[in-house]
Amino acid sequence: MAPTIGGPSLELDRAGTNPRALIDPFARAITYLRVSVTDRCDFRCVYCMSEHMTFLPKADLLSLEELDRLCSAFIAKGVSKLRLTGGEPLVRRGIMTLVSSLSRHLASGALKELTLTTNGSQLEKYSTELKSLGVERINVSLDTLNPDTFREITRWGDLDKVLAGIDAALAAGLKVKINAVALKDVNEDEIAGLVEWAHGRGMDLTVIEVMPLGDVDESRLDQYLPLSIVRSRLVERYTLEEIDYRTGGPARYVRVKETGGRLGFITPMTHNFCETCNRVRITCTGTLYMCLGQNDAADLRTPLRASEGDQLLHAAIDEAITRKPKGHDFIIDRRHRQPALARHMSVTGG
Ligand code: SAM
Ligand code: SF4
Repeated sequence: MAPTIGGPSLELDRAGTNPRALIDPFARAITYLRVSVTDRCDFRCVYCMSEHMTFLPKADLLSLEELDRLCSAFIAKGVSKLRLTGGEPLVRRGIMTLVSSLSRHLASGALKELTLTTNGSQLEKYSTELKSLGVERINVSLDTLNPDTFREITRWGDLDKVLAGIDAALAAGLKVKINAVALKDVNEDEIAGLVEWAHGRGMDLTVIEVMPLGDVDESRLDQYLPLSIVRSRLVERYTLEEIDYRTGGPARYVRVKETGGRLGFITPMTHNFCETCNRVRITCTGTLYMCLGQNDAADLRTPLRASEGDQLLHAAIDEAITRKPKGHDFIIDRRHRQPALARHMSVTGG
């Protein structure tokens, strides 16, 4: 069992509403926090990182105690869903100590869901413990079932290890959703195969459009495959039934009649989903990004470290939320070959 850190559980007020709730200038309630616990990773996916990445000095990272304090401040402000991500969250040393301490907010009812997005490489090791700490669902990123293509995409990954990790997660009773980035000429012929495989094992599948974040050696134009194309190809083969299912994230779901499983589409490029955005993200150094697709950010590490009390931190979070923008405007075309933002996805997490 991981050692514990963190303070007491946070209680909701008696009316069941939170007077300190975070509401942005466009009347969107911020209830979902994604936390990148490390910018490091054991893979180097071609759409996420360049082969030779420079990572943050370890000394710049928030400690696990500080990450707990930061997350707890957001939970006190009405965040009810928390996703640990990265980089690869399960390669952060002591990560289970953080999961264990955050799980007290599940026990108190303040947090409805504690989850993570992982590349799956460490799931054989951690699945049972994650489940025992109250994690119910996880997202595993997997873009192909072909070992050579997997190696081509992840550069360093081992497909067998990831598949064994997914088996371990399912065996531990975790619900698994597979996330696949649609990549032109790389896995575009495999999407139907991924649907059949995931649905055959009781897992939802979500396909994602590649976003122009960070310099990744390859041209984004060569990688980008609009999901409108993926969808029209799937429609030739399957009946896609519109359903209302939502997970609190940006995916729009259909049911595939032939498999009975759910298929999600995340379309930041072809369909702007910002109107209903309920999310903010913090990096492993305590920088808060109010939008994945904009550069504006707030430093929470300074107020966090300035005093033992959380007053300054709460004030900094409130101020930042007043700056949450209406949305992003990613473009990938011949005139926009440079990344829209210099920041890699591994800094803010998916
Ligand atoms: N390492 C973990 C993983 O791969 O699941 C968590 C972090 S990763 C940055 C989170 C998600 O972002 C993954 O599903 C990954 O496929 C996706 N991703 C990374 N770079 C992306 C990009 N440029 N466009 C779209 N999705 C991206
Ligand atoms: Fe690592 Fe995830 Fe980025 Fe791949 S997508 S390099 S697994 S952080």
